[in-house]
Amino acid sequence: MTRVIVIGAGIGGLTTAAVLARAGLDVTVLESQVYPGGCAGTFFHQGYRFDSGATLAAGFYPGGPMDLVSQAAGITSWPIQKSNMAIVVHLPDGTQINRWTDDSQRGEDHKELGPHSSAFYKWQNQTANSLWKLALKLPPWPPQSIADFARISEIGIPWLLSDHNFLVLRDSFRKVSSHLQNASDNLRLFVDAQLLISAQVTSEYANAFYGAAALDLPRRGVVHLMGGMGAIAETLVDSIRSNGGQVFYRQEVTHISTITKNRMLVESKQGGSFEADVVIGNLSPWNAAALVDKELKGKFSRIQSELSDGWGAFMVYVGLKDCNLQPDFPLHHQIIVRRPFGEGNSVFASLSPSWDPGRAPVGHRALTISTHTKLSEWWNLYEHDRVAYEARKEELAVKTLSAAEIALPGLRESANMIMSGTPVTFQRYTLRERGWVGGFPQTSLFRAIGPRIASNFWLVGDSIFPGQSTAAVSLGGLRVADMVLKKIGIRQKYTPSV
Ligand SMILES: Cc1cc2nc3c(=O)[nH]c(=O)nc-3n(C[C@H](O)[C@H](O)[C@H](O)COP(=O)(O)OP(=O)(O)OC[C@H]3O[C@@H](n4cnc5c(N)ncnc54)[C@H](O)[C@@H]3O)c2cc1C
Repeated sequence: MTRVIVIGAGIGGLTTAAVLARAGLDVTVLESQVYPGGCAGTFFHQGYRFDSGATLAAGFYPGGPMDLVSQAAGITSWPIQKSNMAIVVHLPDGTQINRWTDDSQRGEDHKELGPHSSAFYKWQNQTANSLWKLALKLPPWPPQSIADFARISEIGIPWLLSDHNFLVLRDSFRKVSSHLQNASDNLRLFVDAQLLISAQVTSEYANAFYGAAALDLPRRGVVHLMGGMGAIAETLVDSIRSNGGQVFYRQEVTHISTITKNRMLVESKQGGSFEADVVIGNLSPWNAAALVDKELKGKFSRIQSELSDGWGAFMVYVGLKDCNLQPDFPLHHQIIVRRPFGEGNSVFASLSPSWDPGRAPVGHRALTISTHTKLSEWWNLYEHDRVAYEARKEELAVKTLSAAEIALPGLRESANMIMSGTPVTFQRYTLRERGWVGGFPQTSLFRAIGPRIASNFWLVGDSIFPGQSTAAVSLGGLRVADMVLKKIGIRQKYTPSV
């Protein structure tokens, strides 16, 4: 039986592991933490259960990415509650834009954004609808072999010929801003803010093809998970184990070496030693490069200098007591204070639902707030001036909380506990090099790195196409599982239709 070792229990790694275990492979997941989920995990602190990074889950609609995962991994249900209200976006002039999952309520919101918004959203909806049809067929992007080119043609040609999709193709070379020529300031602000959290760049830099699909996230079946975002990972772990796979925590992989052309050895800091026919790294390229022997190191030379291009996250976790919020108060808020975004000028705040007793004591809520932050200054301070590092942490926590108070007035008076985290914290808990999160900013479709590093070593997670978000890394994980199974000649019980 083919032995597979998956390094990391993030959503990408767990999705791949769950599909391969379901297909009958001998799968073992090695995770350094004591719980699964990585950036989409949920942790306990002082009676609260906080989402560590990701807070907004999407893709659970019939035929959507998480439905494909259910089919491929044999998952019969997720602990979800659907939500029609996806996000409230708060603009600097006080305008609030509600983003709904239900299409019929969308037009109303966009009126606030000026006359050009209808044209922009018509383009975005149509393009996203076309692209999602293509994405859900799991095209191997970027192509890494003749077989990948053949598969792209097999999937892409019928797609291009249907519904005039060849017109959509023009956007693969454009930026989102090319569709915002006559936009009001508020429309630009709104689109830029939404792109920052979904594509990691604003409209001037975001590829239009990718941006249209990324902006669609709220329409893609937003749900709340009982127990927090970590429930996605926990459900995947249950699925792996019920299909005979194993998930080991406290196993930090420190070395991957090639034994023979077709056999690899994975070793952990805790003394574990695991032989495998296939190794899947749920790792950034920098993390992977640090673990492999010299035969594989060369495969990473192209991307090693790119860490400066991308983001870290600054987090504030707040336990709220007696907060008097109505049960139907929206749970996700993006607050834009001013440009440039990030560094507390734009924040994303998510509350635990009032109906989820697993997240906070009765009457309390767990609140996770994040803001984009550049990595280099944190590390400079951390390595050379700890006092200044702590001062910056304190200062940014205050700024982030002030921004969040625009959506949640009185938040600080209701706080039972407040804790903050920097990219240094992210590195400590997820091992991600320098706390780099969110994957590569989506400036071009052609800078994506492929998942196949060697014939039996693959990467999954938000460094590979289609990039960040739980739904996107699951799609990437499905794609890799599909390719691994094809390579070893196993036909999945479920295969994405062409
Ligand atoms: C602040 C923030 C907010 C976000 N908000 C959202 C959101 O609202 N909605 C959304 O969909 N997405 C969101 N995202 C993005 C989303 O969380 C990520 O894209 C996704 O979870 C990344 O998954 P991954 O598969 O790349 O794995 P990761 O989350 O990177 O997990 C990798 C796992 O591998 C483990 N690991 C690493 N190295 C080793 C090793 N050597 N040995 C053993 N184990 C190892 C780590 O401990 C970790 O558990 C957010 C991200 C951040 C940071």
